[in-house]
Amino acid sequence: MTTSGNLKPDFSEYKQCRLCPRECAVNRLAGQKGFCGESSDCCVAYCGAHFGEEPPISGTSGSGTVFFSGCSCGCFFCQNAQLSKEHLGEILNFAELSERVLALAQSKVHNLNFVTPEHWWPHIRDLCRNLRAEGVDIPFLWNSSGFCRSELLAEQCQSIDIFLPDFKYADASLAERCMGRRDYPELALSGLRVLVEKKGFLRPFDTSGEITASQGVLVRHLVLPGEVENSLSVLRQLYAEFGEGLPLSLMRQFTPMPECERRQFLNRKVRDEEYAEVCTLAAELGFRRLFLQEEDDGSFLPDFQQRQQPFPGNRKK
Ligand code: SF4
Repeated sequence: MTTSGNLKPDFSEYKQCRLCPRECAVNRLAGQKGFCGESSDCCVAYCGAHFGEEPPISGTSGSGTVFFSGCSCGCFFCQNAQLSKEHLGEILNFAELSERVLALAQSKVHNLNFVTPEHWWPHIRDLCRNLRAEGVDIPFLWNSSGFCRSELLAEQCQSIDIFLPDFKYADASLAERCMGRRDYPELALSGLRVLVEKKGFLRPFDTSGEITASQGVLVRHLVLPGEVENSLSVLRQLYAEFGEGLPLSLMRQFTPMPECERRQFLNRKVRDEEYAEVCTLAAELGFRRLFLQEEDDGSFLPDFQQRQQPFPGNRKK
């Protein structure tokens, strides 16, 4: 991208960073790092097509994913620990990031998909603005943990077309045990209220992958081993708030990480009957825009050391 003619990036929010509910107030511009473990030097682990998202997102040509390093949510069992904990990736200045992402947008991908974006919002905001100025007209996606500050979402809705937030925990005790914050459920739910009000549900909603989505919200939930009650509460809360029309993706791909073994918690895969119980309640509540997963074949942990290869996927409706 020829950034010279574009607006200069504004990174002032990194100076006393409060981009997520951790509100560390560190000066990332000066190299300080807060909970997410990132200074303001943007670190990207993968930039390329991803075929493992839901069909309205991946379509036939893939979703243009940009995987960032670091994470403000910080679940101990993180499935992308190479990025969230080990900070794998390449430091890119804004011009390099812009060129990399513009090239991705100009490949055949259906959208640009910013993964774990919260702590990079100033970069992403200015990137989106410049990409639109360059004529990029594919949708922009916010692929997040759901651990967010609702006040920022209104601004993010001005730049982002599609939101894929997780709703990980309805159980405050489980949230505290996994990520150290009892307030995840209320923060995530209030964020979802803002998003659904401003963006509506994901649309067009075509499950064949022939027509990809252009706008709206799709909520994701990862079922955890031995924590079915949490998943059932998630479903009941989502149904009570948004009704059966909410697009919802129920994932069973959890893979225990070494930290699970060390803690002797969540140290196994999700059993078939656990996932079935969650899916059964979703059906009973009447969720009609539901994505489920095939039996996990163990291939879901992406290896960002091999990041030239596109990601496979097995999501189905
Ligand atoms: S984005 Fe990072 S530094 Fe900023 S408040 Fe969140 S965890 Fe702290």
